[in-house]
Amino acid sequence: MARSFDVIFIGAGPAGYVGAIRAAQNGLKVACIDSWKNRDGSNAFGGTCLNAGCIPSKALLESSELYHRAREEFAVHGIRTGEVALDLAAMQTRKAKIVSSLTSGIKALFQANGVTGLVGRGRLLPSGKVEYTPEGGAVEELEAKDVVLAGGSEPVPLAAAPFDGSTIVDSWGALDFEAVPKRLGVIGAGVIGLELGSVWRRLGSEVVLLEALETFLPAADVQVAKEAERQFTRQGLDIRLGCKVTEAKVGGRKVHVRYRKGAKEETIEVDRLVVAVGRRPRSREILAEGTDVRVDARGFVEVDEHCRTSRAHVWAIGDLVRGPMLAHKGSEEGVMVADLLVGRSAEVNYATVPSVIYTAPEIAWVGKSQQALEQEGVPFKAGSFPFSANGRAKALEAAQGFVKILAHAETDEILGVHVIGPVASELVAEAVLAMEFQASAEDLALTVHAHPTLSEATHEAALAVDGRAIHAINKKKAG
Ligand code: FAD
Ligand code: NAD
Repeated sequence: MARSFDVIFIGAGPAGYVGAIRAAQNGLKVACIDSWKNRDGSNAFGGTCLNAGCIPSKALLESSELYHRAREEFAVHGIRTGEVALDLAAMQTRKAKIVSSLTSGIKALFQANGVTGLVGRGRLLPSGKVEYTPEGGAVEELEAKDVVLAGGSEPVPLAAAPFDGSTIVDSWGALDFEAVPKRLGVIGAGVIGLELGSVWRRLGSEVVLLEALETFLPAADVQVAKEAERQFTRQGLDIRLGCKVTEAKVGGRKVHVRYRKGAKEETIEVDRLVVAVGRRPRSREILAEGTDVRVDARGFVEVDEHCRTSRAHVWAIGDLVRGPMLAHKGSEEGVMVADLLVGRSAEVNYATVPSVIYTAPEIAWVGKSQQALEQEGVPFKAGSFPFSANGRAKALEAAQGFVKILAHAETDEILGVHVIGPVASELVAEAVLAMEFQASAEDLALTVHAHPTLSEATHEAALAVDGRAIHAINKKKAG
């Protein structure tokens, strides 16, 4: 007889594994199937995020930043060191240990919550059953009342620069270099390009980023993007906008990259090339033919605001569906679906999903950018506060950037908060909470913030919305 569950999650990335745990907490009999395979042939739960994305990239960002600061900044603090040397192998080992401790943690969480973790491929069949193909084992059909598709995404390949797994690589490859490339090319100056470009720049590479668009970071607030481009260029990232790569060829242990910029043909030679031009949903293998689950032209599984697909009792979450490809967005969808399955009311507030770029300075935002509000014709007022006037940022030797708050001109409701500066990733949490509760800029201005903290910059930016910042000269008069 077929093994039977209340719900089967296909995919154990941050969308699937989080949803599976919540569903089990809700009293359901849950299975979660995952086919992730590491380079050493081992399997691991956690998906892209834990194995090849968020976690390993943040581990290397931290190590490379410390290396950079030890070399460039300690002297400013009055700390003299001998020669600061790089042990890349040790850095990579640390990264691998962090990853494996977290992925084995998921296994333990599955056990503790009673989730049946299954290693192998899962596929929805037209019958509504799930075909499970364990590695080296016999194919099995599993039954479930509900199925949640959480197969995630994969890097978009570029025909002009095909991956070869060693010299022309995707983001996973770029996390695993065994030596620092003397010259590194990156196609795409998006989130991955900037984060991984920063890692290798700090460790000594000359980094050239070739970006197709004429505008740098168009999703970020226009002032933040301008400040970011200035800071990154100062750090030595060579960001070239409006570049169309026409060919990348490996020869003589180098990659020869040809690109067009306007009417000009240019060539660069690099030791390694990272292609980071976006990710695409992995929807093909998860659906057998005839399943009646609608997929759009770009491969995203079509869902409503509750992640229901076109077929009853089939749901889809995470990178596989519309919206930003972010781990926390997928996790929230997983939790929502798990709660809906037991009749609880649940939703994801897509308007308050924060975005973060873990460069130095970090960039984080929630809500609308100034240019989006202008385009939509929403009347707004803005207040900003620079970290150069924040005591804690100065003590941290990280006084670059600012906090900018956009509030509705009439109601004062916060519409967007944009941070470029030290640990912006953590500072944005307060803004998310404020927006979740539809707070006004005045609410934030009336909230007591500890001194000296970076969060005082958020407080001051809220005061500045009405021309009342204390530690900066206000551009506008207090109303
Ligand atoms: P995934 O994490 O891709 O997981 C899907 C899982 O399903 C995988 O394990 C896959 O093997 C499995 N699977 C697929 N098909 C099948 C099948 N048929 N049968 C069984 N299993 C299957 N996001 C952030 O929020 N913050 C960050 O800092 C961040 N950094 C990133 C850095 C990099 C370098 C990259 C590449 C991505 C980063 N992301 C970050 C994005 C984040 O990793 C994704 O948004 C997130 O992992 C998506 O979660 P998911 O569960 O939808 O899919
Ligand atoms: P992205 O969309 O952030 O950036 C891709 C960049 O490549 C864009 O600027 C795009 O204009 C450019 N591009 C596209 N085609 C090109 C071409 N032919 N030539 C040159 N440039 C080209 O995508 P990504 O950086 O690959 O990241 C993929 C996903 O992973 C993103 O959706 C992101 O949300 C997620 N991610 C998130 C984080 C984070 O939250 N900190 C970190 C890494 C990745």
